[in-house]
Amino acid sequence: MLYLVPTPIGNLEDLTLRALRILREVDLIACEDTRTSAKLLRHYGITTPTTSYHAHNEARKAAQLVARMEAGARVALITDAGTPGISDPGFRLVRACLQRRIPVIALPGPTAFVPALAASGLPTDRFVFEGFLPTKKGRQKRLAELATEPRTMVLYEAPHRLVRTLGDLAQALGDERPAVVARELTKTFEAFARGTLRTLHAYYAAQPRVRGEIVLIVAGTTYRPDPDWPREQALIMSSYVSET
Ligand code: SAM
Repeated sequence: MLYLVPTPIGNLEDLTLRALRILREVDLIACEDTRTSAKLLRHYGITTPTTSYHAHNEARKAAQLVARMEAGARVALITDAGTPGISDPGFRLVRACLQRRIPVIALPGPTAFVPALAASGLPTDRFVFEGFLPTKKGRQKRLAELATEPRTMVLYEAPHRLVRTLGDLAQALGDERPAVVARELTKTFEAFARGTLRTLHAYYAAQPRVRGEIVLIVAGTTYRPDPDWPREQALIMSSYVSET
């Protein structure tokens, strides 16, 4: 049996009771990074043995883990943050399990794009998850495809690439397209920046350095924003201030 167990994306309280129980009960926890996960496991007093399962040992490790599960072991897969398989290792292990008729149970739980999208203020009824844009090969083609996308688009981005990506998106989709940058979700300095691709690009280009983890939400072609959507300059709202 394989359990896909989502772990917090910042706030350690965001681990479900079921996740906690599964992590305690399984025979082995496969971690993207055993050192990163050790902090979480220590915090909750979980002493289940761990092993590594990451992008660079996926094929070999998937075969080993499947062999253990075929022998009766229950394995939980966790990644550094969020839901395994969502822009994270997991897909290969799921496929390997299913090929051997090993049940795969995915627990619901933290993932970065859901709170970003839900609080963005952009339409949530239809959306497309793009994950990370290609950084080199295929980037222009993907940007051209996104230019005609009618649904809200959800992207992950590294902080050091945010300005470049906002600039490229503005060029491909148009300066005035409404967009939202969600930073440091669930953490102390969580903040949402709402604006257009032009104003968000200008805001972040003027920062000495962009830090933190980022989800980028971009309106689709069919979205007609409310008259009060911030257009002249990006509106930055810190969740910390509003929550306390
Ligand atoms: N599996 C994860 C999930 O379920 O969301 C995603 C892992 S992916 C390797 C890491 C990316 O997720 C980051 O570069 C960022 O785009 C996004 N992310 C993760 N934690 C975040 C957070 N607390 N706030 C904003 N974005 C976050």
